[in-house]
Amino acid sequence: MTGKFRVATVSLAGCFGCHTSLLDIDERLLQLVELVQFDRSPLNDIKQLGDCDLGFIEGGVCNAENVHVLRDFRRHCRTLAAIGACAVNGGLPAQRNHLQLSGILEEVYVTGTGLAPGSRIPNDSELPLPLNKVHAIHEVVKVDYFLPGCPPSADAIWKFLTDLIAGRTPALRHPLLHYD
Ligand code: SF4
Repeated sequence: MTGKFRVATVSLAGCFGCHTSLLDIDERLLQLVELVQFDRSPLNDIKQLGDCDLGFIEGGVCNAENVHVLRDFRRHCRTLAAIGACAVNGGLPAQRNHLQLSGILEEVYVTGTGLAPGSRIPNDSELPLPLNKVHAIHEVVKVDYFLPGCPPSADAIWKFLTDLIAGRTPALRHPLLHYD
């Protein structure tokens, strides 16, 4: 790889809040685009993943497509970072882990209130198969860095990115990892 530091980002089982927090660096976005070339990302809608310096992973792993995408990021990204609670430990989506998946699908699509008559569980071959449990990304691939928070603050993401871009090991002091 040559030239600018290449970053790819993805949201797996997440809410895009961590991507929104990245955009919250506000006017520093102008500095960021000077320092970074974005590869695949929902920020630019590029769908193909090339070789990158950093894979920025939001969200945990809840279906077969998430597994495929995450492994592809691991193959293409020199450094992989779990950004936010969902990627770090499954976060909010993992709250379903103490329930049976079949029971959840039944209630949401078949027996829940307000459903149209004849409603059924979607079963299209184009839909990714859900996993029984939601997993943190480190349960599927090796992860180099973990940035906690729901979401991590814009300042924390900025410090993390600028440390990596400068070739430093990211070091975030307590005020950037303080959530109350
Ligand atoms: Fe959304 Fe929070 Fe999960 Fe980030 S960590 S994707 S903000 S729920």
